[in-house]
Amino acid sequence: MIEESINDVLFSEKVIAERIERLVEEMAKDNRCKKIVMIGILRGSFMFFADLVRALYHHGIHPIIEFTTMESYSGTESRGVVKVLKEFTTDITGADVIVVDDILDTGRTLDFAIKHLMERGAASVKTCVLLDKPERRILPLQADYVGFKIDDHFVIGYGLDYDGAYRELPYIARLTPKT
Ligand code: 5GP
Ligand code: MG
Repeated sequence: MIEESINDVLFSEKVIAERIERLVEEMAKDNRCKKIVMIGILRGSFMFFADLVRALYHHGIHPIIEFTTMESYSGTESRGVVKVLKEFTTDITGADVIVVDDILDTGRTLDFAIKHLMERGAASVKTCVLLDKPERRILPLQADYVGFKIDDHFVIGYGLDYDGAYRELPYIARLTPKT
């Protein structure tokens, strides 16, 4: 059974849904009269992104939806390099963009994403992450919208994987080795 090694649920389905509702109220207030392009960083953000967009609809926000696939490689420990594996096609010239990721960890992915989106002509770039691990930060970056701050644990579920598995779990859990 796949869930045998998960014994520490951090955020249940209900808790995530409640937090998203609060987050979306905040986002809707800030972005009411703007034409927004929302860009999800795949694959980790897919579930969070869908729930966010659906909740935003109920607050009268109708963004253009885009996705990009990015991956951070750390060939050596000290030098993580972020790569765009799949570009998006929407013209974002002059647009107010909100980029959505699963976790803000070292900050390399979001730092790269912000610069990349500005280079592609965005008027502004805001950031939204489901989880924030402030302890792990290498680049001085804070997200504009944060679901939950967590300690330095490896987490899975609700889009987040371990070696490709567990993305489908509706909750977020710590992964602990089987004993
Ligand atoms: P950063 O570029 O901020 O170091 O890394 C962000 C990316 O690292 C996330 O988008 C995610 O893919 C991965 N990541 C960081 N911490 C975790 C974690 O606890 N669990 C999982 N599944 N991925 C993580
Ligand atoms: Mg990621």
